[in-house]
Amino acid sequence: MALEEKRPPVTPMMIEEEAALRNGSRGLPPGPWAEAAGPRPRTTERHIAVHKRLVLGFAVSILALLAVTMIAVLLTVRFEECGGAAADGPPRAGGNGSLSGAARQPPGAGQPPGRPEEEARGGEAAEEEEEEEEEEWQRRRELPPWARPRLPRHLRPLHYNLMLCAFMENFTFSGEVNVQLEVRNASRYIVLHAHRMHIEAVRVAEDKLAGGVRVARTFFYPQTQVFVVVLNRSLEVQRSYNLKIIYSALIENELLGFFRSSYVLHGERRFLGVTQFSPTHARKAFPCFDEPIYKATFKISIRHQATYLSLSNMPVETSVFEEDGWVTDHFSQTPLMSTYYLAWAVCNFTYRETVTKSGVVVRLYARPDAIRRGSGDYALNITRRLIEFYEDYFKVPYSLPKLDLLAVPKHPYAAMENWGLSVFVEQRILLDPSISSILYLLDVTMVIVHELCHQWFGDLVTPVWWEDVWLKEGFAHYFEFVGTDYLYPGWNMEKQRFLTDVLHEVMLLDGLASSHPVSQEVQQASDIDRVFDWIAYKKGAALIRMLANFMGHSVFQMGLQDYLTIHKYGNAARNDLWNTLSKALKRVGKSVNIQEVMDQWTLQMGYPVITILGNETTDNIIVISQERFVYDSDTKPKDPARGDNSYLWQIPLTIAVGNTSHISSEAIIWVSNKSEHHRIPALEEASWLLGNINQTGYFRVNYDIRNWRLLINQLTRNHEVISVSNRAGLIDDAFNLARAGYLPQNIPLEIMRYLSEEKDFLPWHAASRALYPLDKLLDRTENYNIFNEYILRQVASMYLKLGWPTNNLNKSLVQASYQHEELRREVIMLACSFGNKHCHQQAATLISDWISSNRNRIPLNVRDIVYCTGVSLMDEDVWEFIWMKFHSTTAVSEKKILLEALTCSDDRNLLNRLLNLSLNSEVVLDQDAIDVIIHVARNPHGRDLAWKFFREKWKILNARYGEALFMNSKLVSGVTEFLNTEGELRELKNFIKSYEGGAAVSFSRAVETVEANVRWQRLYKEELFQWLRKSLTQ
Ligand SMILES: [Zn+2]
Repeated sequence: MALEEKRPPVTPMMIEEEAALRNGSRGLPPGPWAEAAGPRPRTTERHIAVHKRLVLGFAVSILALLAVTMIAVLLTVRFEECGGAAADGPPRAGGNGSLSGAARQPPGAGQPPGRPEEEARGGEAAEEEEEEEEEEWQRRRELPPWARPRLPRHLRPLHYNLMLCAFMENFTFSGEVNVQLEVRNASRYIVLHAHRMHIEAVRVAEDKLAGGVRVARTFFYPQTQVFVVVLNRSLEVQRSYNLKIIYSALIENELLGFFRSSYVLHGERRFLGVTQFSPTHARKAFPCFDEPIYKATFKISIRHQATYLSLSNMPVETSVFEEDGWVTDHFSQTPLMSTYYLAWAVCNFTYRETVTKSGVVVRLYARPDAIRRGSGDYALNITRRLIEFYEDYFKVPYSLPKLDLLAVPKHPYAAMENWGLSVFVEQRILLDPSISSILYLLDVTMVIVHELCHQWFGDLVTPVWWEDVWLKEGFAHYFEFVGTDYLYPGWNMEKQRFLTDVLHEVMLLDGLASSHPVSQEVQQASDIDRVFDWIAYKKGAALIRMLANFMGHSVFQMGLQDYLTIHKYGNAARNDLWNTLSKALKRVGKSVNIQEVMDQWTLQMGYPVITILGNETTDNIIVISQERFVYDSDTKPKDPARGDNSYLWQIPLTIAVGNTSHISSEAIIWVSNKSEHHRIPALEEASWLLGNINQTGYFRVNYDIRNWRLLINQLTRNHEVISVSNRAGLIDDAFNLARAGYLPQNIPLEIMRYLSEEKDFLPWHAASRALYPLDKLLDRTENYNIFNEYILRQVASMYLKLGWPTNNLNKSLVQASYQHEELRREVIMLACSFGNKHCHQQAATLISDWISSNRNRIPLNVRDIVYCTGVSLMDEDVWEFIWMKFHSTTAVSEKKILLEALTCSDDRNLLNRLLNLSLNSEVVLDQDAIDVIIHVARNPHGRDLAWKFFREKWKILNARYGEALFMNSKLVSGVTEFLNTEGELRELKNFIKSYEGGAAVSFSRAVETVEANVRWQRLYKEELFQWLRKSLTQ
C-alpha cells in the first residue's frame, strides 16, 4: 500500500523584509518552501491510517448505544431476509452438523460499544469449563491455542464461500462464511480470527460424511482477536471439514475493515461501503484465518439494493435480481490469495474502461461527476500501459481477468493494492489536467505505479510474515521510479529523483541512534502497523536499488522473473529472494553471497559513513574506513550491549579518480573491515577521489579536507565532469556530515556556490532539501538574516536567468520540459522563501489579479508557492479569500494547496484559528488535519503555537490517530522535529513524562532529534555565523 507522503519540509521562513507590498509590512514568512523543498515522500510517508477511534467522546457513545439497540433488533430480522436469498441458504434445522447458538464478543477490548452480551451456551457452566481448560493448559505450561500471538498451525483453510448482505440504510451487514478446512494435527479447537462482530450460529461438518461434529461451546478471545470453537471430539488428521459461521456487524464509520464513507452529489449526500483489510482487518469483516501464510481461494456473493452496485476482486459471474429491489452479485472464484488482499465495495459510482493488449479489462470507478469530467482518464490510460510494462518486465502475465481502480473520498492510506480491486483516495488518482501541477501529476503517477507493482509483488507473491513487509513495500517504492521512467523516459527518475526523494530523505531518519532495522520482528497484531513506516518503504527501496546496481540491472531483472515464477500464488521470505538472485548471478559467472551481504543491511539499523583518505601518499594507496553514521554522537546506542563500534557492513564501494577535465571509474571495491588499504593506479598529485559513483550505495562518503577542496574547485571550474547524481550526492553528504559534526560547517555552504552555474534540477533540489533543516535550526535566531542573505545571493542569478513560467503548460510541454519546469519552480521557491523582493512582488501581483478579476491566472506549477507567499505577505483579506476558495473548490489537488497556504500566515491569531478549525471533521478531512498542524509547526511564527496546541489536544489527537501508528508518528515528528532550544527540549521531556504510554517510539525519536538540534546550536551555530559574516564582507 502507499503511505501518504510526507511533504518535505518547506516552511515559511522568517525574514525581515521592509517590503511594503500591498498592505504593508508584515514580516514575510515567505515560504512555500514546504512543498518543494522537502522530501516529498510520494506515497505516503506516512501512510496513514487515519483511524478514528470509535469512541470520540460522550456524544459518540450515546449514538452508538442507540445504534446498537436498533441493530440488535434489525439484525435478527435482516439476517433471515438475507440468508433466504443466499445461495446456500441459512442454517436451518436438519443439515448435517449441529448448530451452536450465538456467541457474542465479550465486552471490552476492541469491541464496539453496546453490543448485547450473551454467550453461546451462555452462563456459568461454560465459564467454569473455560476456567478448567485454562488451568489444564497452565499445568502443561503452554499457552492455550487461542492465547498465542499467532494462530495454531493444526488447521489450514482451503476455500471460503462468503455470502454478504449489505444494508446501506442503517450501515449494517450480515454474512455467512463456509470455510473448507484441512486438518494437519488432531485437535478439538478451531481458532480463527474474528473481531467486532456478532456471531449468530456455528456449525462444523465433515465434508463427505453425514453427521456433523457437535460444538461444545464457542467464545471470543479479544486479546488475540480470535473466535474459538470447542468441539466435543477431535477433528481428524488429513480429513477436511466445513466450518459454517453466520454473523453480523456494523459497516463502521472508521477507516478499517468494512467501512463507510460519503460524498455529496447534486446537493445530496451519498454513501458507499468499502474495505481496507491490510494488515489485520479482514477479521472485522468476516471470520477468517487472517495471516498472510493462509492463502486460500474465495468465492464471494454480495446482496444489496439494486440502486447500488457491488465490486470485488473478481468479476461478477451472475447477478440474481429479486422483485423487492434487491440483487445478489455472485463473483468468480479467486486464485489462491491472502485474506488481507480481499476486497469489496458497495457504491453507486460510474466508470470508464479500457483493455490491455493481453485482454485485461481495466476500469476506473469514481463518483459520477468525476467520471463525467474525465478526471479518471489519466489514471486509466497509464494503468493500461503499466500493466503491459510489468507483464513485459516480469515475464509473468497479470493474473486476473480484470483490474478495477476505485477512487474513494476517504481512505486511511494513499492507496491499497487489493488484488483486482485497488482502492485509492481521490487525491491520489483523480487528475484534472487543466488545474494540476507537474508535482501533482507525478504524485498520482507514482502511486499508481506503486499499487500496480504490488499486483505482482504482494498479491501474487506474498511475504510469509510481516517482518518482511519492507520487501514488498521496498520493491513497490523502487518501481515507482522505474515505472515512471517507462511512462516518461526523459525524466530519469530512477537515476535522479530517487536520490532526493528516497535516499537522502531516509538517511535523515536512519541516521538517528533510535532508528530500527528495516526487517523488524513482529510478534502480535498490535505490532504490525509499526512496520509500515518510512524506513520499510524508503530504506527498503534504497537497498533494493543498491542491490540492482551491484548485480547489474539485467541480471537483477532475470532474478526477479525467476522469483515470481517460482513463488507465484504462494508466500516467500527474504531468503527465498536472496537465493534466487544469487543463482541468477551465478548463471552469469559472478559469485556473491547475496544473503550474507543483504542481512547486514537489513538486520542492522543505520548505515555507514565511509571515509576515504589518501591524496597525501605517493604510492597510490588509499585508506578506506567505515563507521556507523549518527547525527548525535552523544546519544547512547539503543542497544548498549553493542556500541556503534561493532557495526560493520559489506559495502559495494565504487571510486572514481578525476582531474579538471576527466574522470575515470573503477570497479566495485567490497569494503568489509573497519579500515582497509587499497591501491588506486591512476592517482596523481592534483587528482581528486570521488566515492559512491552515481550514489547507488546506501551510505555517505567523507574525505580529507584537501580532497573536499579539490572537489569544490572542480565544481566551480567545470561541474559537468562530475555526474548530476554525484553533484546532488556531494551536496547532501556535505550538509549532513556537517550537521552531525563530521565536517566543518563552511564546506557545504562553499559547495553551494557553484549552483549559480548549475542548470540541472537535481542538485538544486538536493540543496534546497538539505538547506531546509538548517534553515529551521536558524530561523528563530538573532542572526538569521546573515544566513538568509547568503542563500539569497546564491539563488539570485539563476532566478533572474529562469524567470517565471507562463500558464500554457500543455501535455507535450510537460513531457519535454519537466526538468526545466521543476528547476524553475525550485529556484522560485527558494527565492520567495528567502525573501527575494522581485519574487515577493510577483506573487503579490498574481494574487491581487486573482482577487480583482476572480480569474485564477497563476501558473499551475507555482500556485502553491504563490498562495503561501501571498498569505504570508499580504493582509488578512487574502487569508479569508484563500479560506473561501478552499471551501468552494471541488478539485482535490487545489484544495490541498489552498489549505496548506493558510498555514503560511504570520498572524498568530489566524494560525490559532486554523489550528482549532483543523479538528472539525466537517471542515478539514481527518487525514488533512495532521498536515495543518505540521505545517503550522514549520512556520517560525507558528512553531510554538502548534507545539502548544499539540500538547493541549494530545488526548483528542491520540484518540483519533493513535491506532494508526503511521499517522501518529508523522504528527509527533512533524510537530517536534524543529524544536531546538533547551527550554523546548525540557517541555518535550516533561510532556512525555506526564502522559501514559502510546507512541513511545515516536517520542523517543523526537527527543533524540531535539537533543541533536540543541547540541548543534551549542557546538556549531557560532562557527557557521562567523564564516557567513566573513564570507559576506568579502
Ligand atoms: Zn505499498
